[in-house]
Amino acid sequence: MKNFLVLFLILLSQAASAQLTKEEKKIIENVKKQMPQTLRMLEQLVNVNSGTLNVEGVRKTGDLLRREFDKIGFTTEWISLPDSLKRAGHLVAYRKGNVGKKIFLIGHLDTVFEPDMPANPYRVLNDSTATGQGVNDMKGGDMVILAALKALNTSKLLKNTTITAYFTGDEEKSGSPISVSRGDFIERARQSEIALAFEGAGGLTSVADARRGSSGWQLNVYGKQAHSSGVFKVGYGAIYEASRIVNEFREQLSSEKYLTFNPGIFVGGSELAYDSAAIKAQVAGKTNIISPSAFVQGDLRFLTEVQKKEAREKMKLIAASNNLAGTRAEISFEDGIPSMEPTTGNRNLVQILDKVSRDMRVGRVRAGDPGGRGAGDISYVAQFVDALDGLGASGIGSHAPGETINLKEFPVLIQRAALFIYRLTRQ
Ligand SMILES: [Zn+2]
Repeated sequence: MKNFLVLFLILLSQAASAQLTKEEKKIIENVKKQMPQTLRMLEQLVNVNSGTLNVEGVRKTGDLLRREFDKIGFTTEWISLPDSLKRAGHLVAYRKGNVGKKIFLIGHLDTVFEPDMPANPYRVLNDSTATGQGVNDMKGGDMVILAALKALNTSKLLKNTTITAYFTGDEEKSGSPISVSRGDFIERARQSEIALAFEGAGGLTSVADARRGSSGWQLNVYGKQAHSSGVFKVGYGAIYEASRIVNEFREQLSSEKYLTFNPGIFVGGSELAYDSAAIKAQVAGKTNIISPSAFVQGDLRFLTEVQKKEAREKMKLIAASNNLAGTRAEISFEDGIPSMEPTTGNRNLVQILDKVSRDMRVGRVRAGDPGGRGAGDISYVAQFVDALDGLGASGIGSHAPGETINLKEFPVLIQRAALFIYRLTRQ
């Protein structure tokens, strides 16, 4: 009897905390009603090849989405990029008003699948799974954005809100330089207060309040060229020294949480020609020559700017001190994608989303481990706004043939996104 009472009290408290307003219940109804249309459009998007370098396909994907945003009263623009970048450009859809938070929604039009790769047309595999190129990464996520906004529009709840939906055309392989390919994107995000990205993640239970950033480093090592017979007397040469340095990096820095660095290419010998853009080397040497040059290029991933800077300082010190006899080394670094740091503002967004999810009775939402994620478009703007990623469609095998979407979670993720945006625009 006592147990029953406890159970009753628990149920009662859940009922009290789990509440959706009449308006919110209507939003969920709208999402449900438009699901057949949403799935048809997802199929349509997936069946347009939009590999990043397929400029025409990316453009076509953008046009399909653009028409839908026009229908729900957004102003739409195509942001072109200079021809030299060899990228299609981006789609932006926005509306301006004076209520609630200014929200910036992030999707991307491109996929990793170029037209010369085997096609994988949209196919429903069973009642909970469909496959197709970019079906979750991230045409599914794009549809979460569109369908959520559509549902709000049906209830006339977009009125006076300020929302920008930005779909980049080159997320998987950004055009270079970044200052050009992401210039407009960053500019518009800075005018917002909250950025929400719809990459796939942990489905209904996990989102990303932080993402690691990526950067690069290049190590040049020089030695005295001489006959190999004197290697331990006249000087050890560049290859031994480069090995020492790289090993020292690992020994001193590899246990730091969220920090990783990987030597992706390592070359040494007598004659060395290196193309750092293509990451390709031509090298020749002789076993009886002490190598005069070695070269290593790697990446460095980090969670905060401080962590990045400190790691670089340590690597510089390792490269500059205790050099083996007759050798010297130079290391240089280059910035890549900034990290999305785990800020209080980001954590606050997780809490608001968690509340939405509990009110919907679909369970808790928590921030996932940033160590398990790479960098994404949101990373370019996270330093200017409160940011959250991983709000998109769920599935498995993104970036691989046979990628799937979870069709059971898809409608719920759209409902959750719609309610989340709704509550933020009422704050
Ligand atoms: Zn993606």
